[in-house]
Amino acid sequence: MDDCLFCKIIAKEIPSDIVYEGSQAVGFKDINPKAKHHILIVPRRHIESILTMVEDDQQLMGHLIWDAKKIAEELGLEGYQLKFHVGRRGGQEIDHVHLHLLSA
Ligand code: 5GP
Ligand code: ZN
Repeated sequence: MDDCLFCKIIAKEIPSDIVYEGSQAVGFKDINPKAKHHILIVPRRHIESILTMVEDDQQLMGHLIWDAKKIAEELGLEGYQLKFHVGRRGGQEIDHVHLHLLSA
C-alpha cells in the first residue's frame, strides 16, 4: 500500500527502531511507548485490520504471535502483554494490522 505508514517503515522509507526482521513480519519500537518495552510486530504483507481479515490470513496472524514470543525471549522478558486494537472503536489508529508487545 503506497500511503501506508507501516508499509513505509517495513520498506525502510521511513526510519524506525527495528528490533526484529523475520521472513513474514518486522518488529520495531513504538514511537510513543506505553511501557518500558513496547514493540509493534507487523506483517510484511498489508492486512488492514482484524475487522477485514480473511480465512487465508490465519497462518500469517498466528506467525505474529510466534514472532512476538521470539522477540520477548530475545529481550529476556518473563511476562508481557500481547494486544490487537481492532477498528477505530477498538483503539486502532494505523490501518495495517499490528500486534503490540508490552512489558515492564
Ligand atoms: P494502534 O492504536 O493503531 O493499535 O497503534 C498504533 C501505534 O503506532 C501507536 O502505539 C503509536 O504510538 C505507534 N506509531 C504511530 N506512528 C508511528 C511511527 O511513525 N513510528 C513508530 N515506530 N510507531 C508509530
Ligand atoms: Zn501497510
